[in-house]
Amino acid sequence: MLTTGQHFAFNIWDFESAKAVIDAAAFLSQDVILQTSTGIYKKLPGKVFSDFVKTYSKYKGIHAWLNIDHCKDENMLINAVDSGWDMIMADGSSMPVNQNIEFTNRIASYAHKRNVMVEAEVGQVKGIEDDINVQQDAIASKDDIKTFLNETNIDFIAVAFGNAHGEYKVVPNLHYDLVEYTAGISELPFVVHGGSGLSDDVLRKLIGIEGVKKINISTDLKIAYKSGISKAITDWKQPIDANQIIHDEIMEVAISKMKLLSYKEN
Ligand SMILES: [Zn+2]
Repeated sequence: MLTTGQHFAFNIWDFESAKAVIDAAAFLSQDVILQTSTGIYKKLPGKVFSDFVKTYSKYKGIHAWLNIDHCKDENMLINAVDSGWDMIMADGSSMPVNQNIEFTNRIASYAHKRNVMVEAEVGQVKGIEDDINVQQDAIASKDDIKTFLNETNIDFIAVAFGNAHGEYKVVPNLHYDLVEYTAGISELPFVVHGGSGLSDDVLRKLIGIEGVKKINISTDLKIAYKSGISKAITDWKQPIDANQIIHDEIMEVAISKMKLLSYKEN
């Protein structure tokens, strides 16, 4: 089940990248989470896309959940629920905590009636990723985390603990104590944002914290895509070969991340 296992969540941008991640998960016989930014969501046919993810992952013998990442647009969140997406991130982290609570509960009550899971965030994860751009590091306070957890009804919790979106310019100063604190006062699965660019050792350390259940990877797949394009141009034969080269490049990076989970189990 999603809330008990540990999963990577990969940001994908089209049918092909979704297929590459599902293929990677199937290769390791793991379940996986796929997610899109709001910018990508707007470009996808939501219902058709969720049908594709369901059908293709079933065909490959695994389970893939589909999530809309960092969304504060209520209409879009409702649209994702109505389009058969499995999870939504109701991101009110830019709001004062009381407003964030109100917003999150409003969205969660709609989503839960339709069996859709909800992720929320306390404190703002900084950095740039598609249509999010947060300059200020807003590490969550323990008081806000506690208040938020007490007053919301959600399925996944993310907090800003020094992690960042995009590429890390310097080695981040991660506040592991905040991860442990949050996981310690709540049964909720903890979500690590900004997993791209963290070393395998850091990822292993986070995976090792009880309660960490979802680790988001976005930028690493985009770097793989870019490298796939370069190789495809160099080794050009036919479009189908180019597609395969790009696919394999994405799949390989997804596999290398997901192997970190089985490393823990063995
Ligand atoms: Zn994020």
